[in-house]
Amino acid sequence: MSRIVVVGASLAGHRAALALRGLGYDGELVVVGGEQHRPYDRFPLSKAYLTRLVDRAGLALEDTPADVVWRLGEHATRLDLAGRRVILGDRTVLRFDGLVVASGARPRDVDLVEGVQGAFVMRTLEDAEAFRSSLESRARRVVVVGGGLIGAEVAAHAVAQGHHTTMVDPSDLPTARAVGRPVAEHLRHLHEVAGVHLRHRTRMRTLDVRAGAVVGVVLEDGSRLPADVVMMATGTTPNVEWLRGSGLLVSGGLQCGPTLHARGSDRVVGAGDVVRAPQALLGGESSRVEHWASTLAHADLAGANLLAGPGQAQPLTALPTFGTTIHGARVRAVGFPQVADRSRVVWGAVEAGQALVALARGSQVVAVVSLAAHEHLPCLVDQLSPGRPLDDVVGPS
Ligand SMILES: Cc1cc2nc3c(=O)[nH]c(=O)nc-3n(C[C@H](O)[C@H](O)[C@H](O)COP(=O)(O)OP(=O)(O)OC[C@H]3O[C@@H](n4cnc5c(N)ncnc54)[C@H](O)[C@@H]3O)c2cc1C
Repeated sequence: MSRIVVVGASLAGHRAALALRGLGYDGELVVVGGEQHRPYDRFPLSKAYLTRLVDRAGLALEDTPADVVWRLGEHATRLDLAGRRVILGDRTVLRFDGLVVASGARPRDVDLVEGVQGAFVMRTLEDAEAFRSSLESRARRVVVVGGGLIGAEVAAHAVAQGHHTTMVDPSDLPTARAVGRPVAEHLRHLHEVAGVHLRHRTRMRTLDVRAGAVVGVVLEDGSRLPADVVMMATGTTPNVEWLRGSGLLVSGGLQCGPTLHARGSDRVVGAGDVVRAPQALLGGESSRVEHWASTLAHADLAGANLLAGPGQAQPLTALPTFGTTIHGARVRAVGFPQVADRSRVVWGAVEAGQALVALARGSQVVAVVSLAAHEHLPCLVDQLSPGRPLDDVVGPS
């Protein structure tokens, strides 16, 4: 391959470029990125970057891939698959022999907060800086819409800074999809102890905006929560618009096969948050995973498989995993908590703040979660295999 184009200059694109060079690829490598910045880590944005424990320099990704043509601040707007061309916003045409789709995802409600003072999403460096400065002047009324991981992290930060903080979530238990019910119950308790007001089983109907500034959130029952600051942490949408009409399958993300080749092309691979790929632990069901470690695993595999070609390509085996700390509680999950409907504490006690939990869909284990017991987690991860019954999972002795 004499030219590989990577679309997306964030974690997946950066790592794919590193992987390709690391495997000896010596052709031209062009990385196109919509942001002006060199690739940086997003995970500290809702954590240590808010508390200023990490600064801009601390977000930089280590290791720079050699001989990359960076096209930063530019967007791919179209893919001509048959002609092997990526078309950029300024009509530049990039021909390719291989393409890595690493265009990630954006907050679902990014358009809602556009131009509204006091309303935020959390994805980019600029998002985090704008939100952080909105909390620095005086005590504010903060409403976090969405009780997923980022919502929980942001709410924990806001309340710790002394702000009146409310979290709105449609589920009966915030963060349960991310960490399973037992650990989510513990986090709910910690939210309450910290002073976060939880409004679950309800949705935001609209943002109340006056003279261009947010003044509240209207819930679906018509009640209104006054707010000076609103964080829309309502999940993400994959950035696939530029691929529409190309012949690739893009519903719910770039649809890839087990080797991360895009369905419909041997010359295109996907990596990171944009990818929807079959998961062996879920019996081949496809899922879009949005975790840091999964993005690295994707990018390494996608780079290797692009060079190897479909005949020699290896399947994705890495399990999704992430870690976070919320109100001081350290949580790590491996697998697919979002599909679980049963749980069993296999070691420790959640109420005591230290436990290992196995999660299952039906009888089959699909995820394991550690609450401040990370050193014991590998023993559970070893038991995460397709078809394993929940009742067979044993904790450390
Ligand atoms: C606030 C926050 C906290 C997080 N915390 C954690 C955590 O604690 N643990 C964890 O495991 N994961 C965490 N994550 C998730 C992790 O950061 C993502 O999995 C990772 O960033 C995915 O990288 P990516 O390169 O696939 O996508 P992205 O980071 O979304 O990057 C995609 C890039 O492509 C660009 N792009 C999009 N479309 C185009 C186009 N058409 N042309 C050119 N460029 C384009 C975008 O501008 C963007 O720069 C967090 C994410 C966020 C936002």
